[in-house]
Amino acid sequence: MIPVSSKYVVVGAGIHGLSTAFHLAQRLQNKGGGSGRDILILDKAGLCAGATGIACGVIRNNYYQPAMRELMAHSVKVWESDPQAYSYHPVGYMQISCEDMREDVAAIHQQQQAIGYDSVFVEGAAASEGYMKTLFSDWRAQGITSVLHEKPGGYANNSKAMLGLAAKVEALGVRILTGVEVMGVDRDAAGAVSGVDTDRGKIACG
Ligand SMILES: Cc1cc2nc3c(=O)[nH]c(=O)nc-3n(C[C@H](O)[C@H](O)[C@H](O)COP(=O)(O)OP(=O)(O)OC[C@H]3O[C@@H](n4cnc5c(N)ncnc54)[C@H](O)[C@@H]3O)c2cc1C
Repeated sequence: MIPVSSKYVVVGAGIHGLSTAFHLAQRLQNKGGGSGRDILILDKAGLCAGATGIACGVIRNNYYQPAMRELMAHSVKVWESDPQAYSYHPVGYMQISCEDMREDVAAIHQQQQAIGYDSVFVEGAAASEGYMKTLFSDWRAQGITSVLHEKPGGYANNSKAMLGLAAKVEALGVRILTGVEVMGVDRDAAGAVSGVDTDRGKIACG
């Protein structure tokens, strides 16, 4: 049986849906205006059935858009906040590049320095090879002229990470229903969403 109403409905149990429900539940609890029990997550398949389940799991601050730098630094801290629950492995991240990429990667390093994100940038073929050989004695890649070594970051195991996040979400009282597909939304006279239409019936929402 699916509920006939829920104050909040989140569609999708990927990393964004789970995270949205997690933060909303915390906010409701802290502000006293409700709790996680007011939130329902619906997924047409299952936990991490979408992109979240097939991502490489790389956690880095290496995207080229400058505006992403602080957002990514914040995100890395979220992973660091509970490595066990999120199955997070803080091994760092390296971008090992050919000459065509050196300037762009240098810009990323500068932006990282500007916000105090711990990274090392090595330039030049000989220096890059030397740096890599201090880490891997059998390093032999050719044509490398820069190495950006981000000390924070690493990787996480997708499914385990989402099971960890789902457990946190459920501990706050949020319900996760899988196998329910949202087909559309209902709107009230003012045009605001008043419910979701699913393949198992309608669910009214706030
Ligand atoms: C191949 C690949 C590699 C990647 N590697 C990385 C990486 O290394 N690091 C990184 O940070 N990011 C990576 N990404 C990006 C990352 O995976 C996505 O940004 C992120 O997973 C998106 O999460 P999401 O919750 O928005 O979407 P999704 O994980 O796709 O979740 C959407 C959920 O909604 C459900 N759904 C969809 N429609 C409905 C409906 N009508 N009714 C009910 N449920 C519905 C789906 O079943 C699904 O579970 C990668 C992406 C891909 C594809």
